[in-house]
Amino acid sequence: MKTPSDIEGAGRGEPHRLGSMQTVDFPMTRYNESEEIDYVIVGVGAAGGVLLQRLSRAGFKVIGFEAGPFWDTERDWVSDETGSHKLYWEDLRITGGKNPLTFGANNSGRGVGGGTVHWAAFTPRFHPSDFEVYTRDGVGADWPISYSDLKPYYELMEMELPVAGPAWYPWGHPHGYAFAPHPTGGVGNTLVKGCTKLGIGVSVGGPVAILSGSRGKRPHCIYRGFCLQGCKVGAKASTLVTHVPDAIANGAEIRDLCMVSRIQYDRRTNRVLGIHYIDRDGRTRFQKAKAVIVSGYAIETPRLLLNSACDGQENGLANSSGTVGKYLMAQAGNVILGRFDELVRMYKAPPAHVLTEEFYETDARRDFARGFAIQTVGPLPVAFAKQMMAAAGAWGWGLRRVMMDYNHWSAFGLLGEILPSADNRVTLSEERDQYGLRVPHVNFDLHDNDKKLIEFGKKKVEDVMRAAGAKEIVQESRFAHLVGAARMGRDPGASVVDGFCRSHDIPNLFVCDGSVLPTQGSANPGLTIQALAARTADYLISQGTRIFSSDRREMIAPPVGKKFVPPDTFLGGAPRAR
Ligand SMILES: Cc1cc2nc3c(=O)[nH]c(=O)nc-3n(C[C@H](O)[C@H](O)[C@H](O)COP(=O)(O)OP(=O)(O)OC[C@H]3O[C@@H](n4cnc5c(N)ncnc54)[C@H](O)[C@@H]3O)c2cc1C
Ligand code: SF4
Repeated sequence: MKTPSDIEGAGRGEPHRLGSMQTVDFPMTRYNESEEIDYVIVGVGAAGGVLLQRLSRAGFKVIGFEAGPFWDTERDWVSDETGSHKLYWEDLRITGGKNPLTFGANNSGRGVGGGTVHWAAFTPRFHPSDFEVYTRDGVGADWPISYSDLKPYYELMEMELPVAGPAWYPWGHPHGYAFAPHPTGGVGNTLVKGCTKLGIGVSVGGPVAILSGSRGKRPHCIYRGFCLQGCKVGAKASTLVTHVPDAIANGAEIRDLCMVSRIQYDRRTNRVLGIHYIDRDGRTRFQKAKAVIVSGYAIETPRLLLNSACDGQENGLANSSGTVGKYLMAQAGNVILGRFDELVRMYKAPPAHVLTEEFYETDARRDFARGFAIQTVGPLPVAFAKQMMAAAGAWGWGLRRVMMDYNHWSAFGLLGEILPSADNRVTLSEERDQYGLRVPHVNFDLHDNDKKLIEFGKKKVEDVMRAAGAKEIVQESRFAHLVGAARMGRDPGASVVDGFCRSHDIPNLFVCDGSVLPTQGSANPGLTIQALAARTADYLISQGTRIFSSDRREMIAPPVGKKFVPPDTFLGGAPRAR
């Protein structure tokens, strides 16, 4: 019998500390490489973490392969902006097009927990309209599933993370949150003030996946503002602290620092057989599996499918439609910064805590389809300095003066829906990375509707900033939240996976992460990605072992698997005043 000190998560023979009060004190299962396990999951991020937890709790043999490390939050994380770069996926990517995307800190994570380690944890649901954009507006695409299919999983995730928010949230499908909202910080106060002056409805204190009261072993938020640096105390939800401990307790293995390089396909049986990976010592190895789920995010997922091209799948795996890599999306993420005479101190409080979705839906009075949200951003000093360099050309003594003035500035984010377009695309470049793998080339262009939406949205956010009392306003154009590039759909000729994330082409290959989203709304995508993962897991569990060998595609919604949730899901949180 192993003891806690035998746990090898990062191969260091120590227990993993996940925040000040938690330890993963279960021995981790180690599967033999020659053993054919049930599921390999590529990437233990937002979706991968939830899948790993559900499938292991249901009794499947499952291994999560993760390119980055298994973080020990006590030792590896620091409350320091520049010291946190190791949380990001900084590998070489080629970016191009008329509006090239920036990667690194702004877009993806690396390590157990994936992007949820450094997300801000805003967790609004998508609106019912997001699932039928084409039907309603004649643009974008419809999803193969509807809001009502995801609703029970939104409800579960809001308890599992859990999400703190107002008792009544009026937008989309109106609902309330069981966990009390957070108090507002300076940046939140300015957004509330601006919206209120203009008669714009505003949600205060959430929805955000940050504990407003201690729950189980996790302490409540202490409002120190380092959410994007990983939240050392564990108040912010990441799958590292919410789902991975239960996965390990239920027999899942995580092989960290292991980069999956190729999925092995067998033309004769039209099935995948397992994955090739490069381990922490640089050796190439193979793991057999009955099924493979790719959860590597919007760039790495299509890259892996394309890099796995082989005899019988010459254009890349699951790519008979030619859509792998296409319809990549980012949200417009312009940051509008305003200077106030009074002190704002935007570092105090989580950056994510106040927002409005008043402009989310298509409005016939505007000359574009779909809409946007306005959210608090609250950059720490280094991020603020970069924003002021981009937004106001601050440099040298001018930048020093701006930095001395940091406590007087507030920052709001526009979060605008950019429509899917086939030319916004991930392909493979001829360049190779440190593993010898072809690196992704990403093309990104804004189209007419996107440009009109961004112009309108920027002006609206500036109006709100002015109404709040800002005397000087500048803005930085940027993008946030990559999704798409392996989209789900009913038509195998125009999508990669079906409504249960099963690839149309190969019955035992699944893709489940942000890359399957056909459209993205103007809500942050993390909650939807995790809800989709929970629904996919329920589907796989309900199919049992026949999914490994059968080609039959049963499109029947599974029962909602409440019994597979982590054990502290229905524990209480901060008391709410009645
Ligand atoms: C600064 C920032 C703030 C954000 N704030 C929010 C927010 O407030 N709310 C919100 O909803 N979203 C937010 N997001 C976005 C959110 O983090 C992502 O949408 C989400 O994490 C994506 O989930 P995923 O499962 O698709 O991928 P990820 O969570 O990125 O997980 C993918 C994992 O796969 C691993 N991986 C990839 N390829 C391989 C491979 N070949 N082999 C092995 N491992 C591999 C990666 O290392 C990674 O750990 C933010 C993102 C950033 C950058
Ligand atoms: S503000 Fe709260 S959630 Fe964010 S890092 Fe600090 S304790 Fe964690």
